[in-house]
Amino acid sequence: RARTAGESLVFYAPELNARAADAMALESRLRRAIDQQEFVLYYQPKVTLADRRICGVEALMRWMEPGQGMVPPGQFIPVLEECGLIGEVGQWALKKALHDQSEWRNAGLHAPRVAVNVSPLQLRRPDFADDIVALVARSSSNELELEITESVIMDNVERNIDALGMVRAAGVSVAVDDFGTGYCSLSYIAKLPVTSLKIDRAFIVGMSSGPEGMAIVSSIIALAHALKLKVVAEGVETEEQARLLHLLRCDEAQGYLFCRPVPAETITALLQRDMPL
Ligand code: C2E
Ligand code: CA
Ligand code: CA
Ligand code: CA
Repeated sequence: RARTAGESLVFYAPELNARAADAMALESRLRRAIDQQEFVLYYQPKVTLADRRICGVEALMRWMEPGQGMVPPGQFIPVLEECGLIGEVGQWALKKALHDQSEWRNAGLHAPRVAVNVSPLQLRRPDFADDIVALVARSSSNELELEITESVIMDNVERNIDALGMVRAAGVSVAVDDFGTGYCSLSYIAKLPVTSLKIDRAFIVGMSSGPEGMAIVSSIIALAHALKLKVVAEGVETEEQARLLHLLRCDEAQGYLFCRPVPAETITALLQRDMPL
């Protein structure tokens, strides 16, 4: 029997309302999380492939919600963006990362470069570059890096070239994250004021599947070097991948093979131990 519009409205409305209520509940939990400071930065080391020593760390956000355990960023960053809260949390992450870096330095350790992920909405704000420049000027830390995905940079690329140019002029490094997934046109890649390319994990996985997979990774590495950019492999999980990447002259790597994302104190311990990973 064909349902009338009226019937289907009755049938679907409670479900829709439940979903809207879920979204609102999540938003209010996130607002409380900001007040209660429930966000935490974990750090994953980046190593130089030649000696496997820590040369940088990437800050990866976690939400420690009481009673819920650790919530991964894929589950709350998109919601923070939708609610317009990502600016506030993103600014906190930048400050916190610079603070942790200065703690490592104050402890007499060789503080690694610290990379922070930037969301599309943060980059789009008109005062994005000014805020970063002011933040760096105020902090004693020097080696800050921003990771911005290729597709986000390519969206409104002319404006982003200007904004990233300002940030670079303040001594901040810029990495193109998830490189190879966003159809960056080759005519632009040379114009971007960036310092490194991060090869997406999918291509690292693909290396083992045959000569085509190897060809793609070696082309990205050659392109990066021709443009005088550093190249970093993400999601390295096996010795074989690390060996191949080193053979292909990839500069740095990051992945579970070397270290998972860990709390700041664990990075402190790793820096104190000062051993290859
Ligand atoms: P991403 O920037 O591409 O970060 C890499 C992701 O791969 C991280 O997931 C990391 O834990 C994971 N990973 C690292 N090594 C390996 C490996 O060997 N194998 C596999 N399978 N995965 C590995 P995570 O921490 O869940 O973060 C997911 C995404 O959330 C990040 O992707 C980034 O886009 C976003 N994100 C994380 N923290 C922040 C933040 O503070 N701000 C913003 N805007 N986005 C963030
Ligand atoms: Ca990243
Ligand atoms: Ca990435
Ligand atoms: Ca990725």
